[in-house]
Amino acid sequence: MKILLDNGHGENTPGKRSSVWPDGSQLIEWQYTREIAMMVEHMLRKEGVDVERIVRENLDIPLRERCRRVNEICKEVGTQNCLLISIHCNACNGNARGWEVHTYLGQNKSDEYATVFWYTAKELLGSITKMRGGWSDGDPDWDSNFAILRDTKCPALLTENLFMDNEEDCRFLLSSEGKLAIATLHAAAVLKILKL
Ligand SMILES: [Zn+2]
Repeated sequence: MKILLDNGHGENTPGKRSSVWPDGSQLIEWQYTREIAMMVEHMLRKEGVDVERIVRENLDIPLRERCRRVNEICKEVGTQNCLLISIHCNACNGNARGWEVHTYLGQNKSDEYATVFWYTAKELLGSITKMRGGWSDGDPDWDSNFAILRDTKCPALLTENLFMDNEEDCRFLLSSEGKLAIATLHAAAVLKILKL
């Protein structure tokens, strides 16, 4: 199976960043998701996994182009032989905290893979922040009509890794322990999926 990593947003994306905290630190989503994606890529390469980042540029590559790149690879290696993981950080009102995974509407392989991500994230983050499940259809992922999930042909999921506008979540994200936990959950979940 080929693992495709999508790091959300780009240096030209307005917003998508935390406040500057009293110690001067700030999370900028496009930088952060690239850093995490590179860590995940490195961890998986070490395990011999075929992995590719679909956005290597720092610019915000439009969703249509991101989807086109994924679907090109699907054509080469087969739709069911790919898994797309899009890495993001959430933001809301400053109070919300936690981790979420999203798939497109309906039930398919993506839901099965997202469930593996959920339980892996729970092991690593369950004592640190909230696990925010979308249990209405019986599994923990949220069904979301996001273009990157809808317009890509292979199984696809999108992780919202804590809330960058919540100070506690954000401080954890920015810590070396936090970065390691977020990257590790993605790599560990992929390794479990490859054994299914
Ligand atoms: Zn995002």
